[in-house]
Formats: sequence, C-alpha cells, structure tokens
Amino acid sequence: MAKNIQAVRGMKDILPDQTPLWQFLEQRVRAVLNSYAYQEIRMPTVESTDLFKRSIGEVTDIVEKEMYTFDDRNGDSLTLRPEGTAGCVRAAIENGLLHNQIQRLWYQGAMFRHERPQKGRYRQFHQIGVETFGLAGPDIDLEVLLITTRIWKSIGLHGLELQINTLGTAEERKAYRDKLVAYLNQYQDQLDEDSQRRLGSNPLRILDSKNPQMQEIISNAPALIDELGEESRQHFDWVCSGLKANDISFVINPRLVRGLDYYSRTVFEWVTDRLGAQGTVCAGGRYDALVSQLGGRETPAVGFAMGMERLVAILEEEGRAEGLGHADVYMVLMGDKAVTEGFQIAEKLRSEIPQLGLQVNCGGGSFKSQFKKADKSGARYALVLGDDELEKGIISLKPLRDKQDQKELPLQSLSDNIRPLLKSEE
Ligand code: ATP
Ligand code: MG
Repeated sequence: MAKNIQAVRGMKDILPDQTPLWQFLEQRVRAVLNSYAYQEIRMPTVESTDLFKRSIGEVTDIVEKEMYTFDDRNGDSLTLRPEGTAGCVRAAIENGLLHNQIQRLWYQGAMFRHERPQKGRYRQFHQIGVETFGLAGPDIDLEVLLITTRIWKSIGLHGLELQINTLGTAEERKAYRDKLVAYLNQYQDQLDEDSQRRLGSNPLRILDSKNPQMQEIISNAPALIDELGEESRQHFDWVCSGLKANDISFVINPRLVRGLDYYSRTVFEWVTDRLGAQGTVCAGGRYDALVSQLGGRETPAVGFAMGMERLVAILEEEGRAEGLGHADVYMVLMGDKAVTEGFQIAEKLRSEIPQLGLQVNCGGGSFKSQFKKADKSGARYALVLGDDELEKGIISLKPLRDKQDQKELPLQSLSDNIRPLLKSEE
C-alpha cells in the first residue's frame, strides 16, 4: 500500500475543533483595530528574496538560515515571507501610500521560517501585525502599545509582561557598538560560535543570544540606554510616562534588541512565562530607516506583530475553546412532510436570528440516531418536527444538556421563543 503523504514538518493543520478559538481571537483583534480606525492591507505571500535581504538584514537568523527561498521557473529568486513588515513597506512605497500621508495599517497571514519545530515554534505560523507610517513622535509609539494592551483585555488574556527598550538612532548605535565590541573583545574565547561571528558583523545581536552560557557576559555588558542623546532620551521618557499615565505596567529591558536589523528607538515585546522558551507573543518597535532603505522617501514608522499560535496556545490551555463554535440548536425531522417543511422553517429562523447556529438533520434516520447526531453537534437544544407537530402548527423543543422539560412552541412565533435561549456571547 502506498504510504500516506503527510503535512510538511513544522506546518500544522488547524482542525475544526481549534478554528473556533482562532476565529474568536481574530475577530476580537480585528474589532480592536477597527476601534482605532486602522485599515487592513493584504500583501502577497511570496516576495523577491532581495526584499528580505535588504530589510531584515543579511546577518540575522531569518536571512542566514530560516528563509524558504527558491528559484521560480524564470530563474528569479523568490522567498515565502518570513514576516510582514518588509512586504508591507514594499507595498506602501510601490502604491504611493507614503507621499505626505499618514498610514495606520494592519495585516494578517501565514509566515514561513525554517526553524526547529517545537511548541510555539513552527515553520508555517500566523501573525497579525500593525504598521504605521509618517509619524515620528513618541505619541504613536504609545498608541500602538495601547492597542496591544486593549487586545489582551478584549481577549481576556492576563499576566503578560511588557518589556521595552530604546535602540536610539543609527549614530547613537554606532557609538555604542564600538563600546560593546571593546567590552566583548575581552571575552572573545568565551563567546559561542554565533557570537564570535557576529562580533565583526552585527555585535548588537549578541545581546539577543538565547544561549544560557552567554548570559553572564551579556548582562554585564554596557547598556545602549546609557549612551542616548537628548532627543532619543526624551522620546523614550515620553513613551514611558505615557504608559504610566495609562496604567500600563512595563519593565525596561536594556538587553532587548530584537532579532531584526531595522529597528530604531522604541522596541518592545510582550512576554509570558507560560510557553517555555517561546515566551514572546508580540513584538515590535520603531523602524525609521527602513522605508528609505527600501528606496522610498524617508518615512518614520512603528509597528508590531503578534504570534497567533502562541496566543491560541495560552487560551487553549485556559480551556477557552470550550463552548465555542458548536451548533446552538439541532433540528430533528421525522416524516417526509416534516423533512420538506423543516428546511423552510430552518431558513426562516436563520433569517430572523442571524447569530443562531442551527444544524438540520440530513440523511434521515430513526429518532434515536438523530438524537445521537444532535448530541454530537454540541447543540444545547433539539427542535423536533414530525408530521404530528406540523399538523398542530407546533414544534417541540428538547433541552439536551440539562433536565428541563420538553416544550411545545408555536411555529408562528418560533424565533421569539428561540432568541432568549441563546447564550449571549458578545
Ligand atoms: P523568537 O525570538 O521567538 O524567535 P522572533 O524575534 O524571531 O521570535 P518576530 O520576528 O519578532 O519573532 O515575530 C513576532 C512574533 O511572531 C513573535 O513574537 C512570535 O510570537 C511569533 N513567531 C515568530 N517566529 C515564530 C515561529 N517560528 N512560530 C510561531 N510563532 C512565531
Ligand atoms: Mg526567531
């Protein structure tokens, strides 16, 4: 027998019992973004490889070893997007969205990175991200942080910690870089292989190392935050006071440099201790140099991306999938006439109660087998229609999850009787 073909390693199916939680999360996030009047943008999944090399940076985990890159039939090098910011900036430049305009955008979709698969780390994963363009001040940094905070509130997610830092300007980073290299040079023989390589090419990334053996060296390194000029200092202070004024607690983490090259000034991560090593659920910051780096006019920008798998994992662990996505009502139909008319009654109900999840029995069957299916559907009620009921102009309502009595409801005013039974979820 031929061997069944399996999904690609690290690429998961999201199954019907999981999608309700995904939908819940996506809907809530979308509602929050709408409430800040952000607009959605949809970019292609595949881009020119050069886009990522030029934006993310050649000496990053992503570009060095995580990209899905291939030549298409014309011999052009293409890459499955590993993140959304580069494509969003490319699209904004290409479509003239940045000419003297402010943009507040969001996107969602699958991203691809060839990493070692483990809990919370996949080769295809999903992000919802926000990118804003044309605003240089710290007020918009605060706004995107307020958005993230409101999202956690809206989905009922507690216990996340906000870590923030500032990377200053390119000049400040350059000055700092020299100091850092001088410091790290003292420990050259203790640096791991990655860090030794980065010492020459991208020493700030060494601070981002996850290697436990590197942590002591890293924690004693000079901090960029101490090298800031007046303007960067003020920018950062403004963001911090804004957070305090809005009762958002945070910690300043001077080692937070983010894995991508394009950040400047404010950077942040929302982290949890509930997902092991994969604790960052949302990450972002300011990237004022990226638009010009990709050929556009100089445009300040700030954004973030949330890792949806990690958020879903936390919600799942809390049992939040329970009760989501089931049918509310299952309609049992006995007899030829009931089958025909049942469909019409069901259609009328769906028109009158748009939020109702109503499943009609298909494929016939005895009462017993229909009630089995009703039970499996997760519905809390069955509506039972037989030729008897039809004649009397009624339908029977039978609770499936508790011991309430069966009731007869007049067909005339059915929706008025069904509406109050729905658990209001909004
Ligand atoms: P990490 O340090 O965990 O590798 P990162 O810095 O590479 O994260 P970003 O590029 O900032 O991640 O992406 C933003 C968010 O997307 C992350 O905080 C995380 O929640 C999620 N994410 C990143 N890579 C993956 C992955 N391979 N699988 C699942 N989620 C991911
Ligand atoms: Mg990574």
